[in-house]
Amino acid sequence: MSATHEDQTATAGFEKKEEQKRRLRDSMQRTARMHPVKVNDSRSVMSIGFLVERAEDAIVWRGPLKFGAIRQFLSDVAWGDLDDLVIDCPPGTGDAPLTVAQLAGRPASALVVTTPQQLAIADVRRCITFCKKVTQPVAGIIENMSGFVCPHCGGTVDLFGRGGGEKLGQGMGVPFLGRVPMDPMIASNGDRGKPFVSADAQNPSARALLDIVETLADTDAAERSGPGRQAT
Ligand SMILES: [Zn+2]
Repeated sequence: MSATHEDQTATAGFEKKEEQKRRLRDSMQRTARMHPVKVNDSRSVMSIGFLVERAEDAIVWRGPLKFGAIRQFLSDVAWGDLDDLVIDCPPGTGDAPLTVAQLAGRPASALVVTTPQQLAIADVRRCITFCKKVTQPVAGIIENMSGFVCPHCGGTVDLFGRGGGEKLGQGMGVPFLGRVPMDPMIASNGDRGKPFVSADAQNPSARALLDIVETLADTDAAERSGPGRQAT
């Protein structure tokens, strides 16, 4: 065997190995999964905010890019074994909720959050109509910012009125799940990345949230086990 031939064989072997490595890297990149950020033992979070380089970066995406990102969050994040997945959509009836409704499919149901005043109610009514159009079941309505409990005297002030969410639920045939009073602790705990309900479970707003979660869990369990479950 001549030296030249040996060189050529070695080069061919080297190229073959490099090609194999490149293919492996490619396939690893294709199957690489994003890992969610762990909040505590029972909660993990993924957000587009984690993927931008600087805090002041704005994400200006049209429909197809948004669709791709939401699809990736649903399929490429290593969520592990989940009891529940909560997808927080921006308000309104735009691309994001439509994409979520399309991709999450029928096991998912919408949780509609409103504030008590008429202007918000009008928007939220459209959201419920939207859900009905895309055949997304609505689990219920929550009235947020429903009164403010004064930390000085304990009295309640209805800053945005009261009862709008409940009326809307009755009018549209959607269960009303409860009202959550405003509390500065919700914002301050959120800013510190602490789940508000874990900070003080006896707080009226925390109790309201926990009651809603319990109602939802009961409904979910009844639906899962109920023999009379109907497809709507
Ligand atoms: Zn007061």
